[in-house]
Amino acid sequence: MDELVRAIAADNFIKMTAVNAREIAEYARTVHKTLPTATAALGRTLAAASMLGSAMKEEKASLTIRISGGGPIGSIIAVSDSSGNVRGYVQNAEVDLPLKADGKLDVGGAVGKNGTITVIRDLHMKDPYVGSTALVSGEIAEDLTKNLFESDQTPSACALGVLVDRDQSVLAAGGYIVQLMPGAPDELAEKLEDNVRAAGPVSEILRSGSVDDVVSAVLNGFSPRILERSDPAYHCRCSRDRVSRIVAGLGKDELADILEKGEPLEIICRFCGKAYSFSTPEIRELTEECHKEN
Ligand code: ZN
Repeated sequence: MDELVRAIAADNFIKMTAVNAREIAEYARTVHKTLPTATAALGRTLAAASMLGSAMKEEKASLTIRISGGGPIGSIIAVSDSSGNVRGYVQNAEVDLPLKADGKLDVGGAVGKNGTITVIRDLHMKDPYVGSTALVSGEIAEDLTKNLFESDQTPSACALGVLVDRDQSVLAAGGYIVQLMPGAPDELAEKLEDNVRAAGPVSEILRSGSVDDVVSAVLNGFSPRILERSDPAYHCRCSRDRVSRIVAGLGKDELADILEKGEPLEIICRFCGKAYSFSTPEIRELTEECHKEN
């Protein structure tokens, strides 16, 4: 099962969130039929959204990460609730680039770096908080680190990784975000940087270990304490009711066209691939309800 932990260390000067998101990334791969490079890009973004979303305290809050870098993959969307349950998709799932010289999947090449990463925090109270920054490399972790720093001025280190097996299934996926609280001594930052370097790629730790091993490696020597544990999952919130509202909300002309054709209307959820079909009488009923309300 996937796991997310939140920890503090070094007299509360360090906050850390880490997630093992292998099942989330694998589920996303099977739903969207992504090829390896797209699997990694989507898996990284889902892991990041889960960590940031789970940090939101308001129960109904949601967090969206949108990345658009001009590369062949198009846009990537990941949405999390406040428990870290996520859903997402990439525009072009069939993107698969040759491996980079270091043997890693070329996520930066697939995403591109001519564009932005946007983090939207919606507390369902007033206008959502939107933080958008220019991409650095399209590798996602680096881009997110810059975005987080610009939005809250707290220095952080972020690592995201997905390992894809020979059969294209997800072998390991997850990441971490470490934040240094204001007033932290300089030597703390230096030691933390050394730890991050020594820990190596997060996907390698998760391949044979757990999320606790990630915390132990990154916070080595800082006496970390786990504050919270949860089990995030890939979860879509679509329902026939929600999709009906979308149908009812279509323009008058568009609905007239659909009714004239007399064929059932099929709508496929972009997040989970579930198909919803509406017969002509059902569409008529929905439009009549809609007109009554007007
Ligand atoms: Zn759905």
